Amino acid sequence: MNFLPDEKFALQLDVEDPLRDFREKFHLPLGKDGQPLIYLAGNSLGLMPKAARQIVEQELDDWAKLAVDAHLGAKTPWYSYHETLREPAARLVGARPNEVICMNSLTVNLHLMMATFYRPTKERFKIFMEEPAFPSDTYAVKSQIAHHGFNPREALVLARPREGELTVRPETIEATLDKHGDEIALVLFAGVNFFTGQLFDIEKITASAQKHGCMVGIDLAHAVGNVPLALHDWNVDFAAWCSYKYLNAGPGAAAGVFVHERHATNRELPRLAGWFGNDPATRFRLHLEPEFVPVRSADAWQISNPPILSMAPLRASLAIFDEAGGMEALRKKSIKLTGYLQFLIEAAGHSKLSVITPRETDARGCQLSIEVHEHPKELFAKLEATGVKCDFREPNVIRAAPTPLYNTFHEVWRFAKILGEHR
Ligand SMILES: *Cc1c(COP(=O)(O)O)cnc(C)c1O
Repeated sequence: MNFLPDEKFALQLDVEDPLRDFREKFHLPLGKDGQPLIYLAGNSLGLMPKAARQIVEQELDDWAKLAVDAHLGAKTPWYSYHETLREPAARLVGARPNEVICMNSLTVNLHLMMATFYRPTKERFKIFMEEPAFPSDTYAVKSQIAHHGFNPREALVLARPREGELTVRPETIEATLDKHGDEIALVLFAGVNFFTGQLFDIEKITASAQKHGCMVGIDLAHAVGNVPLALHDWNVDFAAWCSYKYLNAGPGAAAGVFVHERHATNRELPRLAGWFGNDPATRFRLHLEPEFVPVRSADAWQISNPPILSMAPLRASLAIFDEAGGMEALRKKSIKLTGYLQFLIEAAGHSKLSVITPRETDARGCQLSIEVHEHPKELFAKLEATGVKCDFREPNVIRAAPTPLYNTFHEVWRFAKILGEHR
């Protein structure tokens, strides 16, 4: 793509953007000057869809007017509320509808998935992750290892960036699998690393790990709603994600899980059970049915009844993804938007900044992680003061995630201009 560094060019890109009207569907937080912030923090908390308010109010109204009868009599009956999310969520992650369930939050779901898919033995007890992994995932994994009576110091295997590098090379992953593959029970990788923005080759990692007999789980917190996914075809065993980052479903929104069909339909798998994972045919026989009969789908991992108020905004936000034409359409703009940011940073010829996110578009999503070699905190303070919302990771990395649903090329241009003035 041929970019130009001038402001007129940025404005022209916005005019030509087929997704430009989607910004109108979101509430844009305003800065002190009453103007919208340049919001590049969608990797932490996505913006609120305007439709979220009405859809939540509908549930509050149904609660007020119908109370217990809303379970079956609400506009969208609460009893089967989670089913309204199944198909749009499945489209986003490249799954069949019976492979997806929206429930709980991400770390809880990682535990539920590990209860089924991390079944360590004396010979095969290790878990393989990338470094740096998100702390919550590390805590979850270490506690699972200890819960099974193993020592995290022996059982946790990490793929590290090489000395002097910040992202993990694919050959490091392959070499670790070759070396430790027969001791690894579970590979738990991010789709996109939260810190560096590196997008992993999920299909390849899955195939290599499965050749060694490992289970493969993918944490899609930074990948879902960011990059196209094909979990079913890639044969991933399970995946989990949260919905408040790129999915814009609001704080604590119901998260999601993928369980590959070949497991989802297997009633023999060990799992932690609750009544909403039970076959609906017998679910309401309550005390008459003491034996758990799992549904033959990812729903079998659902333990409790659906949290309506944290699912309602997710319905509103998933509808926007469909309306935009799904991940292929969004990814097309995203590659351009992030590529433009990279171009502008490089065009400014900085010696004080470097982008640590991989350059290749198939090795990153929308986020760029920018290492600031001098006075990083001053630069971050300047960004905050001038109405940019991005985030800072110690010791010196600024993460900026231009998202195709609500960010503009002109915002990227203005952001890059402020970076450029940091000399
Ligand atoms: C955001 C994020 C989480 C957050 O976990 P919650 O259980 O939703 O609080 C966990 N893991 C990763 C990789 C994340 O990016």
